[in-house]
Amino acid sequence: MNRMKLLLGDLASVAFMPVARLSPPACRVLVYHAVGSVVPGDHKRIYSLSPARFERHVRWLVSVASKTTALDEGVRAGRGIAITFDDGYRDTLVVAAPRLVRAGLPFTVFVTREHVENGVAPYLSCDELRELAALPGVTIGAHGRTHRRLTDCTKRELDDELTGTRAWLSDLLAKPITTMSYPHGAVDGRVRDAVRAAGFTVAACSKFGAHHAGDDPLLVPRTDVWARDGACRLAAKVHGRWDWMALRS
Ligand SMILES: [Zn+2]
Repeated sequence: MNRMKLLLGDLASVAFMPVARLSPPACRVLVYHAVGSVVPGDHKRIYSLSPARFERHVRWLVSVASKTTALDEGVRAGRGIAITFDDGYRDTLVVAAPRLVRAGLPFTVFVTREHVENGVAPYLSCDELRELAALPGVTIGAHGRTHRRLTDCTKRELDDELTGTRAWLSDLLAKPITTMSYPHGAVDGRVRDAVRAAGFTVAACSKFGAHHAGDDPLLVPRTDVWARDGACRLAAKVHGRWDWMALRS
């Protein structure tokens, strides 16, 4: 059997493996963007799921609900499936949240300060963000002040994007903010250390992969969910079948 056949055989066996039997245990962090509205600049509509498709994802996630976890707990334990949303779209509150809360599935939303302050569609306003933060199972995290690539920032700019945004968000929601995600997935050693210095304990990347116990909690891989992903592809992604995408970034 040649190497390609071996590889395909491995992929097939993983595809049909129940989530509970994934080995070694790992935390799989899913990242959604918009559900219903259109992500600005997303001309190919990759990151704008339809509500109907999202509903099918929720049904699949409910079928593995015992494996779902809040992000910080999943990262700490190195197991489970965590649901996250980037950018803070208004439809996270009005479309996604009601379905997830009804299903009892915890999730984390990473918001950009300027988007919230401006409160202009398609993003959440301050009041809407407070409403979202008050829902059961919801964690709010930071996603920079301006949504620029943190790797392009000077030390002073980094401080504003990280420490300043964390303090602003903590004041707005009257609760500690300990999680963040890197805008555009842009991170290097300097940015990672600045995130730690700013007081974050969990930081999520955009690189495909799974987080294992003992891995760096400030470089947590995530798995992108796309508009055309059906429930089968979502399951395949959770099983790691799309982790080869990490080689592309
Ligand atoms: Zn973003």
